[in-house]
Amino acid sequence: MQRYEKLFINGEWVAPHGSGFTSVVNPATEEVFAEVANADLDDVNAAFAAARAAFPAWSATRAAERADWITKLHAALDKRRDALALAISQSMGCPLEIAKIIQVNCVSAFKKFAERAFEMEVEKQVNNSLVVREPVGVCAFITPWNYPLYQLIGKVAPALATGCTMVLKPSSVTPLQDLIFAEAVAEIGLPKGVFNLVTGRGGVLGDAMVTHPEADMVSFTGSTATGRRIQRLAADSVKRVCLELGGKSAFIITEDAPLEQAVSFGVKDVMINSGQTCIALSRMLVPASRYEEAAAIAKQVAEGLKVGDPMAADTYVGPMSSMGQRDTVLGYIQKGLDEGAKLLTGGLDYPEGISRGAYVRPTIFRDVHNKMTIAQEEIFGPVICMIPYHTLDEAISIANDSVYGLSGGVWAATREEGIRIARQLRTGGVYVNGGDFNYDAPLGGYKQSGNGREWGDFGMHEFYEIKSMQL
Ligand code: NAD
Repeated sequence: MQRYEKLFINGEWVAPHGSGFTSVVNPATEEVFAEVANADLDDVNAAFAAARAAFPAWSATRAAERADWITKLHAALDKRRDALALAISQSMGCPLEIAKIIQVNCVSAFKKFAERAFEMEVEKQVNNSLVVREPVGVCAFITPWNYPLYQLIGKVAPALATGCTMVLKPSSVTPLQDLIFAEAVAEIGLPKGVFNLVTGRGGVLGDAMVTHPEADMVSFTGSTATGRRIQRLAADSVKRVCLELGGKSAFIITEDAPLEQAVSFGVKDVMINSGQTCIALSRMLVPASRYEEAAAIAKQVAEGLKVGDPMAADTYVGPMSSMGQRDTVLGYIQKGLDEGAKLLTGGLDYPEGISRGAYVRPTIFRDVHNKMTIAQEEIFGPVICMIPYHTLDEAISIANDSVYGLSGGVWAATREEGIRIARQLRTGGVYVNGGDFNYDAPLGGYKQSGNGREWGDFGMHEFYEIKSMQL
């Protein structure tokens, strides 16, 4: 059993004021394998006091100095890649070999923020005004469990680059990679108070962080329900709020697309990380004329994916992140059946050969109508809704008929046609003809998928204020 008894506040590992521990459960075995300390409100106050005290000196550093710290921190993280992958895999079920790539490769993207720090020194003369950038201040960060390191880096890296200080709270399901990150911070001796970490229950600590008088900005990634609440809570003190929330992304496959390639891409895109990807293309829109052909391909691809032990090298689909998440997903599968959608593959039973753990069978519903609950709500599991369409205009209108606007996909005969369709989707991102994920591109949502952007150059914008001096 791994036991983390301390919090990382003001550059030191400190015993919490709070009492008790939160158990970290391996969803493959349902066994507790780690415990982390529960912070309380005194700990949150101490963390914000440290971040506030550190802000004047840290925000006054030159970009070159901050770039140097980021480079050192990157090196300290880089040598912890295996520990990070294992911690994530054990706590939320992503197969280890896949976690090394999709969960941990973001460490490489971290170092790019060293270059981006110099953006802060770009000044602009506008007539008689000098326009400069200044860090927004002390940041409160709250992250979820699905890509816990990626979400940490997406917030912490630009905050360091811009000269902000911060208090971070990970999801209680996946606190371990944040503790490993804090070990790296401690090892390089980052100035004290710049980075502070509290662990414990979101319901207990979240409100205090979001309403904290010392927090100038809140950046939250998680469900739309919690995001809505956070925005309301932060409104009283008019904090800047950056929200990265849920999605229900549509993937339009056109009549003349290479069907085998497109459907296979779409199925694997959803099933990776057991469907717990905010940008997963969970609604597959297929021309009615090619529906049967597409269904046959989708079934074959899904049934060919190896489900099972996250430690096995050939596993593609591990368990859900928790038994609670499994219940939620099974509830949606039942709802789909109740609403008249037909199972092409998968369903409510455990995958073959598995009788415990948070596993759900890769599931594809056919004959789904976009008004069904399973097509409107984010399931956050290995579940695809195949929806037929008759014209491209109808497909675009189905894709946009969602309260969410995080991501989308198109596979068309040519890249130009793909881009033409992509421009008509009201989403923060679109994957065209199987385009790769890009850590240097901005990520964020339209509509109820949030506001603000993370990653890349655009991800810096959330973390600075603009000052104009009239001369
Ligand atoms: P969640 O909203 O339940 O929890 C997210 C975080 O909020 C956790 O750290 C949790 O402890 C904390 N929290 C819980 N109650 C809180 C409260 N009252 N006040 C403040 N914080 C509180 O979300 P989750 O289930 O951990 O994550 C899955 C969700 O995250 C999905 O909806 C997914 O789409 C979304 N997500 C979005 C993006 C994106 O970039 N848009 C990325 C990943 C995940």
